[in-house]
Amino acid sequence: MEKIKMTTPLVEMDGDEMTRIIWKWIKDILICPYVDLKTEYYDLGLVERDKTDDLVTEESAKATLKYGVAVKCATITPNVQRMSEYNLKKMWKSPNGTIRAILDGTVFRAPILVDGISPYIPTWKSPIIIARHAYGDIYKAVDGVCGKGKAELVYTDQNGNKTTQTIFDFNEDGIVLAMHNTNRSIQSFARACFNYALSAKLPLWFSSKDTISKVYDGNFKKIFEDIYQNEYKQKFEEAGIDYMYTLIDDAVARIVKSEGGIVWACKNYDGDVMSDMLATAFGSLAMMTSVLVSPTGVYEYEAAHGTVTRHYYKHLKGEITSTNPVATIFAWTGALKKRGEIDGLQDLAYFAQRLEKATLKTIEEGEMTGDLVSLFKKDGITPVKLSTKEFLEAIAKRI
Ligand code: NAP
Ligand code: MG
Repeated sequence: MEKIKMTTPLVEMDGDEMTRIIWKWIKDILICPYVDLKTEYYDLGLVERDKTDDLVTEESAKATLKYGVAVKCATITPNVQRMSEYNLKKMWKSPNGTIRAILDGTVFRAPILVDGISPYIPTWKSPIIIARHAYGDIYKAVDGVCGKGKAELVYTDQNGNKTTQTIFDFNEDGIVLAMHNTNRSIQSFARACFNYALSAKLPLWFSSKDTISKVYDGNFKKIFEDIYQNEYKQKFEEAGIDYMYTLIDDAVARIVKSEGGIVWACKNYDGDVMSDMLATAFGSLAMMTSVLVSPTGVYEYEAAHGTVTRHYYKHLKGEITSTNPVATIFAWTGALKKRGEIDGLQDLAYFAQRLEKATLKTIEEGEMTGDLVSLFKKDGITPVKLSTKEFLEAIAKRI
């Protein structure tokens, strides 16, 4: 068979531990036999990050801006224990944080649905994708304790003019919190959400609490509405999808009753909480993909889970593990599909779709990794637990 050709390289960001092992197996068993894979390789494994003073992370993000599509393996974010384990020069920052800062992106998390593994909410037939604003609000807030006295909010403009608002006149002990956001960050978030919805051809919901937070959440609502009317309305109509703003309370109620197939844009805290609820409700973290989308339409695909350290230590002892590679496979297929779409390579996009189908079919026919066995329920099929490599080979057979 002639291999499928690529024209532009994918930015390949290698990573750590068990996911680094799986990374190579996915390429060897599922991709390279069929695709003449073109990548610009960056080793984001902790050893190389330490060796290059973390420059490799920055370079990989810059390459992503240049080429437009990246695929990333899970990486260790060092902590005190990793400092000694890897004998590090410094406690390097989270690579995802560094990449996000350079790409100015929004994170979208989507569950992978398989027949046989049912979401806890039976009406959900299609994925619900959470778009979480990853800047500001309570995550960059100032808070403090108060005794008796007056708490005030003071804003000083560039010319030194002050506006003072009373927060509360305390007659007893209490607490205050002040938070902020910037219009630029909210605009980036909004554009990333509109671009993602267009790319996925799914309707977009944005929710906040503007009935109570009239100025703060009202500003989010207005920015979304203005950008929609001025830049996206026509594109949405052409794609046959719509944009809806609704109160967070209403959104939560509607999500539970929905069939899925929605991109749900959430403010920072709402997104933090709701994405954990959705991951669990859909089944498993090992079946959750994540993509960082910049406002200029640059894409970085990855699995939502980490480097699966516990399995890696077993692997190092020579034990065979049954680590689930599905989210990492889907990171690759997401990136290959996007590359195919941008470069007009139908064969490449088609191959990526086929690989996704083969992966799902393998599980649906009862062959899966250990984490899924207890979740799987389908009449007439008794699930069989495979090792990671056996599972990848079972997928290859079905491509
Ligand atoms: P984790 O790697 O996601 O693993 C937590 C547990 O979840 C595992 O021990 C395993 O449970 C289960 N699990 C996760 N992915 C799985 C898979 N593909 N197949 C089967 N089971 C899976 O999280 P962590 O242990 O908290 O973090 C490990 C390292 O990953 C840390 O150094 C952290 O910095 C890094 N991390 C990186 C990213 C990223 O790069 N995006 C994200 C999160 C964490 P059992 O042990 O019960 O089998
Ligand atoms: Mg959370």
